[in-house]
Amino acid sequence: MSNNKTNMPEKGAAVQKDMETYAINPYIPGGLVEPDTLRKIADVAEKYDAKFIKLSSEHRITIFGIPYQDVDEIWNDLEMEPGGLSGKIVRPVKFCIGKSSCKMAKQNTMEIGLEIDQRFRGTKTPDKMKIAVSGCENSCAEPGVRDIGLIGTNKGWKVLVGGNAGIKPRLGDLIANDLSSEEVLALMDKIINYYIENEESVRLGRFIDNMGLDEFKKEIL
Ligand code: SF4
Repeated sequence: MSNNKTNMPEKGAAVQKDMETYAINPYIPGGLVEPDTLRKIADVAEKYDAKFIKLSSEHRITIFGIPYQDVDEIWNDLEMEPGGLSGKIVRPVKFCIGKSSCKMAKQNTMEIGLEIDQRFRGTKTPDKMKIAVSGCENSCAEPGVRDIGLIGTNKGWKVLVGGNAGIKPRLGDLIANDLSSEEVLALMDKIINYYIENEESVRLGRFIDNMGLDEFKKEIL
C-alpha cells in the first residue's frame, strides 16, 4: 500500500474523502459502451465489494470504494485502461449522439469526437482543457461552457472557445463558422499549441480575456 496517498497515484486510482478507499474510472471513449463492458464493470464492482458506481456528467463510469490493494487486480480483470485523467491536460471529450441516432443532428459528432479524443486527450496544457461536441444548436453536450466547443450546423461546424462552468462560469466566444471536420481539427491543433506555447497557467477563457479576443483570433485564425 502506498504511504503517500496522493489524489492520482500511479495506478490510475484516486483516493476518496475517507482517505482509505479509491475510485477508478475506466476509459470509455465518448461514453460509448458495449454490453460486455457494462457487464465486466458490474462484475468487478460486485467482486471487489465496491461502495457504488456513478455515471458522471462527463459520460464516465466511476467505481467508488475500492481498497488500494485491489486496484491492480481490478485493472487486470477489467482489461481496460484508466480514463480518469485529471489535472492540467486535455480531458476526454464529451459528445452527444449526433447523426448516429438523433433526428435533430446536423453533423456526425461521434466521428469527430472520437478523432479529437485520439489526437488530443492527455495533452499537457497550462490548465485543464475540456472539449465538447454537439450535433446541433440544442447543445446537449454543453459546448458553450467548455474550453473548446463545437456545434454542428447545416454548413459544417461552429467553433466556440474559452467557455467554462465552475465558480466563475464563462460562455465560449464564437470564432469560426461553417468549418469542415478537417478544418476544425486543424484549428483545434493551432488553439491548443498556441495555449501551450504561452504557458499562462489559467483556463483558456481567462487567457483569451487577458490578451483580448481580437488579438487571440488574429493569432490563431
Ligand atoms: S445537441 Fe442536437 S444532435 Fe445532439 S443530442 Fe442534442 S438535439 Fe441531438
